[in-house]
Amino acid sequence: MSHSPSNDIGTLYVVATPIGNLEDMTPRALRVLSEADLIAAEDTRHSGRLLKHFGIGTRTEALHEHNERSQVPRLIDILREGKSIAFITDAGTPLISDPGFHLVRAARQAGIRVVPVPGACAAIAALSVAGLPSDRFVFEGFPPAKSAARRAVFEKLQTEARTLIFYESPHRIIECLADMAAVFGAERHAVLARELTKQFETIRDATLAELQRWVEGDKDQQLGEFVILIHGLPRAEQESVDAEAERVLKLLLEELPVSQATALAARITGLKKNRLYEFALRLKGAG
Ligand code: SAM
Repeated sequence: MSHSPSNDIGTLYVVATPIGNLEDMTPRALRVLSEADLIAAEDTRHSGRLLKHFGIGTRTEALHEHNERSQVPRLIDILREGKSIAFITDAGTPLISDPGFHLVRAARQAGIRVVPVPGACAAIAALSVAGLPSDRFVFEGFPPAKSAARRAVFEKLQTEARTLIFYESPHRIIECLADMAAVFGAERHAVLARELTKQFETIRDATLAELQRWVEGDKDQQLGEFVILIHGLPRAEQESVDAEAERVLKLLLEELPVSQATALAARITGLKKNRLYEFALRLKGAG
């Protein structure tokens, strides 16, 4: 395997694997996995099936969220000895709602070459077919499991103008869509991408309320893996939110100091304090 030319340190390869369809395994990923001295895999049994399918016999070791921190120093030693390691997770691109951050950071800090071997990623695959603005987007990973925490996260994103991307599991898909409709608004345009690249791939765009009703009404749509994409707040609505915030702030500033007016306006409008504070200073300046 090729080592770093300047010294005899090995290379860490971060290798994407398919998110369903095995044809998405790239020739380069296959070569790197075959030639590596060791494959660190999130789940050796799960990845064992993939490796067997492609006839790859490289030794595997487990590296998952529960042992990553403790295993990193040993893996760094192996790389320092000049061996190469390929790191894979169960599906898709490692580190994207997956383990690997500690390993990659430690390798970079140790001056070890870290090489991406790109491939499938559910968020990007979903975005590429959603038909939502894709010039700017925000990847939020999995929302919290409990409704109150989930709504709190959504509330912070209520006025985000960029396309929002979430992952969700089948156990929570209905309640998650319900919370999204409640916080972002029943009429907000969204896309549900289910089982991408697999037999029952389904990509549906509708309002959040329609998506919620549709999934609730069809048991088949509650199965599998999901990406939820939400249209950012359209500019016109953003402007009307701003106009309303301005009206509320103006009234409060007549009676209260800036910090108190801002805090109260944040509670009334659901907007972020920082944003309202800047607003308040501008209003004060104008007045
Ligand atoms: N690292 C992976 C990636 O690059 O997409 C994501 C890993 S994360 C633990 C698993 C989540 O990704 C699933 O719960 C689902 O939200 C999403 N996902 C993975 N494969 C998918 C697929 N084929 N279709 C839709 N969503 C998928």
